[in-house]
Amino acid sequence: MLLHPLPWPDGKTVAASITFDIDADSLIRNARPEDGHLRLAPVSMGRYGPTVAVPRILDTYRRFGITQTFFMPGWVMETYPQTVEAILEGGHEIGHHSWRHEDPMGHSDEHEAELFGRALEVHVRMTGQKPRGYRAPVYNATPGVIGRLIAAGFLYDSSLMADDIPYLLQAPEGELIEIPPHWGADDWPPFAHFEEIGYLMPVRAPSDGIRAFVEEFEAARAVGGFWMPVLHPFLTGRLARWAAMEAWLETVLARGDVWIAPMEDIARHAQAHRGLLRVDSLEGSA
Ligand SMILES: [Zn+2]
Repeated sequence: MLLHPLPWPDGKTVAASITFDIDADSLIRNARPEDGHLRLAPVSMGRYGPTVAVPRILDTYRRFGITQTFFMPGWVMETYPQTVEAILEGGHEIGHHSWRHEDPMGHSDEHEAELFGRALEVHVRMTGQKPRGYRAPVYNATPGVIGRLIAAGFLYDSSLMADDIPYLLQAPEGELIEIPPHWGADDWPPFAHFEEIGYLMPVRAPSDGIRAFVEEFEAARAVGGFWMPVLHPFLTGRLARWAAMEAWLETVLARGDVWIAPMEDIARHAQAHRGLLRVDSLEGSA
């Protein structure tokens, strides 16, 4: 059961939003600023995301007639403008995901604010509007980040984990809809193998990794909840993994009981049912 269930539009049983964080080669360049550009293998692994995987994912979405959400660092948007154009052409949402995937805990709040603003400017210039949502690199949102999102008029954050479905996050500066991720629905643990950033884990078979996301979905569906995998094109957009994901998605959509929508629609729906939401305050976590 859910402590704070929400009714979903059109009597749908469960809500879902597939999110892809297009980190590309910002990961290696940020992790190794001195010589990341010389490390061609991790650079190429990252570049696979916007150039090969995203077109594949967009093709699936187009055939299934759905629109979803992508989070992009500003640096990635500037480096891969055709990817931005293709995403916008498909009617999808692009959320704020830092400047170049820097960890908000990795430097001063003043520097973080400057990089946040730099990325925001790229969004406005390239998409024609301010982003409605934000996800922190490695989920590392800080009180400073949350305050900035509220001050900049963001509708939602998707970095914090205090419930199974969208909830209301209260901060001294105001409030935000929080659309919670969690590590069980993140593709980094099953699929990433990235020596340069200290992540060495056995890569799971595509069917094993995807099965974890499917079990999360079925648990959400059983209680009328919300499912939001946090995926990366260079991981889940690989051939075998995306083929497995696409085949499963087709069966889910055929059932007709899922409201699959971009995050901004999920957040607006939650906002419209504000009185039903679980409230979590930043003061409570300090
Ligand atoms: Zn990321």
